[in-house]
Amino acid sequence: MTSTAQGPIAAVEARQLVKRYGVVRAVDGVSFEVARGEIFGFLGANGAGKTTTLRMLCGLLAPTSGTAFIDGIDIVEQPLLAKARLGYLDEDPFVHPHLTGREFLHFVADLYRMPRGAERQRRMERLLGLFELADRDGELIGAYSHGMKQKIGLASLLIREPPVLLLDEPTNGLDPRSARLVKDLLEELSSRGTTVLLSTHILEVAQALCRRVAIIDRGRITATGTMRELRAQAGNEQASLEDLFLKLTAGPESKELIERLLA
Ligand code: ATP
Repeated sequence: MTSTAQGPIAAVEARQLVKRYGVVRAVDGVSFEVARGEIFGFLGANGAGKTTTLRMLCGLLAPTSGTAFIDGIDIVEQPLLAKARLGYLDEDPFVHPHLTGREFLHFVADLYRMPRGAERQRRMERLLGLFELADRDGELIGAYSHGMKQKIGLASLLIREPPVLLLDEPTNGLDPRSARLVKDLLEELSSRGTTVLLSTHILEVAQALCRRVAIIDRGRITATGTMRELRAQAGNEQASLEDLFLKLTAGPESKELIERLLA
């Protein structure tokens, strides 16, 4: 199941996703596709609908309407099959405070029925070493710093080596060296065929890593494409991603805001 008459099946597809909370339309008809092996950036202001979209894509949140597919598998119709193919990092990583890092990785690996054995051990040691957590062995995750929780959360996805990663602000709270490590790791994984959909506020991360981005504003996609396509859409060949982001998301210009504040 890798292609159709229309072309290859996307690794991730959001099709007209809607999530309503009472009268609030947190996500309002979001559609996009991410190709296999692509690093795709999902950008938007606070409250734009990024986390809600990602939670629907990974099956954590039921859409009000619309569908989401992982490798062509409907996340609502066949949740176990779709979830086996993805790793999801929430903005507030789901980690177990009463386990050590090693115990938590074993716990997740057991949940996904990874065989206990040399291969699991090898991956675990490599990840703990990579994220500089190997020497915090006896410590419970509850005592970890935010950045360390972020790293053990990421390690708990990577131990399974899923083909699709959905990451909500993966570099949030990481020091510059750890953030660089995560960026390099994602590039390496992508070059080996892993698909990465990441949300971020840090536009340099998106500009450095992502081949294509989607910009979401108040629940709706306002632009999708490569930097070149976004520049063409904004009618400015020289625009940085920050210029494009500010142009394609609503709200008064910062100069106007400052003037109003100081008036
Ligand atoms: P941030 O960058 O600040 O994390 P976001 O783009 O991830 O923001 P969401 O968390 O998806 O935004 O929120 C989108 C909208 O949905 C916001 O207006 C938020 O208040 C609303 N919302 C999210 N979750 C709920 C909920 N459980 N109940 C009611 N409203 C919600």
